[in-house]
Amino acid sequence: IAARPAPYLDELNPAQRAAVEALDGPVLMLAGAGTGKTKALTARIVHLLNTGRAQPNEILSVTFTNKAAREMKDRVGRMLGQAVEGMPWLGTFHAICVKLLRRHAELVGLKSNFTILDTDDQIRLLKQLIAANNIDDKRWPARQLAGIIDHWKNRAWTPAQVPGSEAGAFNNRGTELYDQYQTRLRELNAVDFGDLLLHVVTIFQTHEDVLAQYRRWFKYILVDEYQDTNVAQYLWLRLLAGEHKNICCVGDDDQSIYGWRGAEVGNILRFEADFPGAQVVRLEQNYRSTPHILAAASGVIAGNEDRLGKTLWTEAESGEKLRLIGHWDGEEEARWIGEEIEALQRGTRRLPPFDLDQIAILVRASHQMRAFEDRFLTIGLPYRVIGGPRFYERLESRDAMAYFRVVVSPDDDLAFERIVNTPKRGLGDKAQQTIQGIARANGVSLVDGARIALANGDIKGKGGAALRQLVDDLARWHDLTRGPLLAFDEDDTAVIDDGPAPQPRFGDPDLNHVELAQIILDESGYTAMWQNDKSPEAPGRLENLKELVKALEQFDNLSGFLEHVALIMDNAQGDDGAKVSIMTLHAAKGLEFPVVFLPGWEDGLFPSQRSMDETGLKGLEEERRLAYVGITRAEQLCTISFAGNRRVFGQWQSQLPSRFIDELPEDHVEVLTPPGLYGGGYGAASPMQSGLETRASEANVYNSPGWKRMQDRSSARPQSQSRESRNTVIDLKAVSAYTVGDRVFHQKFGYGAVLGIEGDKLEIDFDKAGIKKVVARFITGADD
Ligand code: ATP
Ligand code: MG
Repeated sequence: IAARPAPYLDELNPAQRAAVEALDGPVLMLAGAGTGKTKALTARIVHLLNTGRAQPNEILSVTFTNKAAREMKDRVGRMLGQAVEGMPWLGTFHAICVKLLRRHAELVGLKSNFTILDTDDQIRLLKQLIAANNIDDKRWPARQLAGIIDHWKNRAWTPAQVPGSEAGAFNNRGTELYDQYQTRLRELNAVDFGDLLLHVVTIFQTHEDVLAQYRRWFKYILVDEYQDTNVAQYLWLRLLAGEHKNICCVGDDDQSIYGWRGAEVGNILRFEADFPGAQVVRLEQNYRSTPHILAAASGVIAGNEDRLGKTLWTEAESGEKLRLIGHWDGEEEARWIGEEIEALQRGTRRLPPFDLDQIAILVRASHQMRAFEDRFLTIGLPYRVIGGPRFYERLESRDAMAYFRVVVSPDDDLAFERIVNTPKRGLGDKAQQTIQGIARANGVSLVDGARIALANGDIKGKGGAALRQLVDDLARWHDLTRGPLLAFDEDDTAVIDDGPAPQPRFGDPDLNHVELAQIILDESGYTAMWQNDKSPEAPGRLENLKELVKALEQFDNLSGFLEHVALIMDNAQGDDGAKVSIMTLHAAKGLEFPVVFLPGWEDGLFPSQRSMDETGLKGLEEERRLAYVGITRAEQLCTISFAGNRRVFGQWQSQLPSRFIDELPEDHVEVLTPPGLYGGGYGAASPMQSGLETRASEANVYNSPGWKRMQDRSSARPQSQSRESRNTVIDLKAVSAYTVGDRVFHQKFGYGAVLGIEGDKLEIDFDKAGIKKVVARFITGADD
């Protein structure tokens, strides 16, 4: 076929173009963030199609996320100027392997309709095995075994292939338990995530004919984010590319962030040795970010010793400096970012207005998302969570909530439809059509339609009896939600003073909505349905149901809870309308946004505690690469923030700014003034700020060397604030401003007057405690 003209080639620089046009043989593109690796890879697919080298279904292209796969497909279509008909083999390793394994499941003893277990299921299964082997799971927890097995699977070791050097694992029982686990999975016709790759590699290694078939089929192989492939993925690729060697891999060693999951950055460094004669293309021009952002990212990653080192340059205008801001706590950080986003939407600073789609918040740990979701719901800022846990979207959550919905609003037909025959009540399609027909004819809800049908004798037998039970139960539960009745005094006046506030009560004064929810799930037979279910997912579903009921405790009643979930779900659903994106740094790999917020840069959170506790620098270097990935997602504006206090797993903790903040090159950073600290806005309103015990923690934050350094060079900071305006906030930078005679407050010794100043210590004559020398950071200005 004659090649169509190729405008997509004109968009590339010479180095990219070389990588795209070198269609045959191995090619490695090793280059820094935003240099157009993914763009070149996409152009390569287009070029293969355009030159007639391959059909869409003969190209195997591996992306790191499903989202990236979709985007790539769209872009291929756009570059080609026509929609591409099916690219079935464009996807993640896992998605592609699921397809392959369904075709050849019987070769590894599975049926093609195998189930894929999630982590919870996996852990539960391992727990059972550990118990069956009389191993004390307190000393030898299932999670640990899961980690070991994952590690082995990532290295493509079947139980028989685990080397002797690993024999000591899990108290010498690891290999044996791994073997039992694999047997059990086969019995259940199930696989875990690691199996997807492992089984396919095993099939390729043991069935030459199958491998040969795919080697012929996949004429060209392309891999994005190659630096994050693990050994199993690497073997898989080598097996497939072994003959024709038409493989093009792109990656960046500085963005290797999955070492904790078995990724081996060595794969990319070894490419030339694995594929002799490989063309290696290096790209240096960054097309994504402004020079300040690029310089800040380069400054951070320079702290890593273990790297190839690359130069990046850009032609972009210098733009905004990277912005740094500290906050009192995580809530205030979320509030500030919310306000900042609204300001950016309107168009502030020297920048044009931004669309919400152009803004992303990238967190280190998914528990950070909660504060943003809550805040954005409150102010009505549309957002979407990408790759987050969608607890309320799970099957059992939806079923349970459908029960709650019909109980609260008997007219909710959709919910009724969902639960009328769940669990099975012997109400087939015919019975349900009868109910629908009657409801429509009478203009009533389905529940009422069912009542009429029963009264008319339209639904008889076992199904009829079960339906009768259901509608009666629904009516009874509904009555229990009536209220709430407040607890009243004898003389009928509400208790106002003394003691705890009256608890809202429902129709039954001894029953609250949490208990009612449990009753609904139990009496309806829904709980029993999963208890009797023998599938591997069932126990997990039961645990989720428990969690769901627990979540109700935070609300006053069932309707309040349902409303909350509806809001969250509404926000998560539907792709129309611009929304702020919230996701983890890991999920953000390969993506780009004009505006990026990077909250939670605090030691222990980012870098993670685990990486800090580790001996050696490996973990810390991986965290630093993650910081590099985060900053390099930003095109025009990047804001890093940290909080002095944070609630982690229900506990308040005081936080220190991240060590990575110290590593940001000063010339490219602008320090913003935290609104709470200088009396601006809501400082005094924060309930946390009246808590003395938390003051010391703020002291830590703003006394850290990194923060001080930032402050020293920041000219934006107002120096002369009246102390009156910040009487509830510690002013640490004002330490030097204390002069002899100032009235101050110390959290332990109370009020006093400054006698003298020595470095960071103050000599104070306390009203009650007498003369003492105290560290200045525990002192507050007092205005009494
Ligand atoms: P990462 O390492 O973060 O995955 P990358 O190297 O894959 O980055 P791309 O996402 O392909 O980089 O490109 C970054 C941005 O630069 C994209 O917006 C892309 O459209 C643009 N870009 C890439 N190459 C060029 C070019 N030659 N001319 C103009 N823009 C380009
Ligand atoms: Mg990319």
